[in-house]
Amino acid sequence: MTIVLETIIFWFVVAIAIINIKYKPAYEVKIEGETVGYIFDETSFKNRIQEEIINQDGKNIEYVSLNVVPEYKKQLVARNTALKEEDILEKLKTEYTTITYKYFIVALNDEEKAYVDTIEEAEEIVDKIKSEYQNDEINLQILTKYTQNQLEINCDTIEVAERNVISQIEEIKIKEKEEEERKNALAIINEIKVSVLPVTGKITSRYGESSNLRRSTHTGTDIACSAGTDIKVIAKGKVTFAAYSGSYGNLVKIDHGNGVETWYGHCSKINVKAGQEVEAGDVIALVGSTGNSTGPHLHLEIRINGKTVNPQDYLY
Ligand SMILES: [Zn+2]
Repeated sequence: MTIVLETIIFWFVVAIAIINIKYKPAYEVKIEGETVGYIFDETSFKNRIQEEIINQDGKNIEYVSLNVVPEYKKQLVARNTALKEEDILEKLKTEYTTITYKYFIVALNDEEKAYVDTIEEAEEIVDKIKSEYQNDEINLQILTKYTQNQLEINCDTIEVAERNVISQIEEIKIKEKEEEERKNALAIINEIKVSVLPVTGKITSRYGESSNLRRSTHTGTDIACSAGTDIKVIAKGKVTFAAYSGSYGNLVKIDHGNGVETWYGHCSKINVKAGQEVEAGDVIALVGSTGNSTGPHLHLEIRINGKTVNPQDYLY
């Protein structure tokens, strides 16, 4: 009896030894029912999936999900069967993984203006701009954007993003200022905003009138006022002429750009020199009666591209 038992045990051990020489235990891995390879250990492989795929850390990564549940089946395989742990992991990573990315937008008046990687950067930009523009009403928002297409993400550095937002704010402010100036303008002559009347007084001769005082029709508007009254330039510009000029008497010509020129004649005194830049409201001369004049008044002439126009189409 014992001999029989010993024989059985002997052959059993021999069988196991042969199996061990020819076979090894492994896990067959199936993805969507298809065998993709073999691994040595299920638990350590699952840990690698968790650590190297699910928990992978990277720029803008919000979360990672594996779209399949691999199946594992323990079995004995021929000892020379290659274990493809790396390949299977790579396959799962590249073919069966969805990564959701997150980035942040700084919006100005609901328009997307800058893109940054982190909420901290977005908040820093907003805080900085709000403290810089405390007196202005600036509508900034931070929006969170999710995408599964990494190529869609094109974030700026915080410096560039901040600059983008500020330049947009400045552009809006300039437009608002221009709009304000436009609203406050007395007149607009060929895009040039007039914000100041040169003098106030009674109109004594209109544009186009004929008179025995002059050879042709009147090229400007005459406004009577007492001698020595300040003559203010009606808009910013550059002095192109400031001297005595025949029938005009003491004459100042200002070029306002865009083909617009204003002439101020019969002055008693000239305060500016040719080439000088002037701002709207600067006192360029004083009212007088020099040249072809019968009493103190300002002869105001407006020219567009060299041709006189009726000043009263715009002023008075
Ligand atoms: Zn005149």
